[in-house]
Amino acid sequence: MALTVSRLLFMRKKELDKLSNKFDENVFDATKKFEKLITNKKEIEGLPATALGLAAQTAVSKGHENATLENGPWMITLDAPSFNSIVRHAQNRALREEIYHAYVTRASSGDTNNSLIIDQILKLRLEQAKLLGYNNYAEVSMAMKMATVDKAEELLEKLRSASWDAAVQDMEDLKHFAKSQGAKEYDDLRPWDIAFWSGRLRESKYDISVEELRPYFSLPNVMEGLFNLARTLFEIEIEAADGLAPVWNSDVRFYCVKDSSGNPIAYFYFDPYSRPSEKRGGAWMDGVVGRSRVMSRDGASARLPIAHIVCNQTPPVGNKPSLMTFREVETVFHEFGHALQHMLTKQDESLVAGIRGIETDATELPSKFMENWCYHRQVCLELFLIEL
Ligand SMILES: [Zn+2]
Repeated sequence: MALTVSRLLFMRKKELDKLSNKFDENVFDATKKFEKLITNKKEIEGLPATALGLAAQTAVSKGHENATLENGPWMITLDAPSFNSIVRHAQNRALREEIYHAYVTRASSGDTNNSLIIDQILKLRLEQAKLLGYNNYAEVSMAMKMATVDKAEELLEKLRSASWDAAVQDMEDLKHFAKSQGAKEYDDLRPWDIAFWSGRLRESKYDISVEELRPYFSLPNVMEGLFNLARTLFEIEIEAADGLAPVWNSDVRFYCVKDSSGNPIAYFYFDPYSRPSEKRGGAWMDGVVGRSRVMSRDGASARLPIAHIVCNQTPPVGNKPSLMTFREVETVFHEFGHALQHMLTKQDESLVAGIRGIETDATELPSKFMENWCYHRQVCLELFLIEL
């Protein structure tokens, strides 16, 4: 009997892995497939120069070799920097709707349709849960976390009730503002309107736009600010070590982390920019190898941990460095927090070193800890001061 159950579980797991791979492939292919060439500048009014530059650069890479920031043509894709620039900045409501719709319905039709795959995944997950003696997959998932299903629901409800009134008021303010700007749709704001009007409302309130902040957050500045912070908090030095290890793309950087005596304790790869043709969306960190005494080369000192950090931020346009949004800065800090947990471990048994063997919600603590420093006045000032 026990053998049958474990065999069944093994089969379900194999099938689930296959399905979730297929799911990811479909999203990736569907994202890659979409492109929209714009030749009339009127159609993309409102887009900031960074976004126009990126759209022209994308057009060049797709065969429109004479594309320029000023005269186009401009290529819009569903890749995050491009998609976000449209829904946040394009004055053209129909274009926002078209791009928003294309984005949220990715992989839901044709040969990249994920609908059936989702049904199958749900069915198999429930079977898996029942075989393991749980009521549902949420319980299986929580078995590897600090939280429980009840605790998670309690937290969600706490957040909902605390934010409800403020959210209703925000929506009212947004409608009121859109109306004052002559937007016919003010009483019927749809998902493709929210980011656009919120951005304009913020600009009118604080007299500064997200775009105006970009030059302060150039990638070299941000990394310097981040490494300075890491030095202050953890007494580590981070140095460029490009060339020490082979990389998979010329944009990928390699770094060495040293302790306060100057001894290497870890390494990490950093792959910052969005590359729609070969990289899936989002941002993540993972271990390449863990700290390990067993895998020691000289039999004395442990093998050092290596991490990789992958982001999808705005690539450099022309000869300027990547100019990041604040959200992109937060993302780098977040992933770096994960990487630190992997790299600063003192545990020599790789199976339980760094991020291994820790509840998956607990691994979000160091990443959130680092991310919150972006809101720290002194840290932000340092990022600014590097530039000024
Ligand atoms: Zn995370």
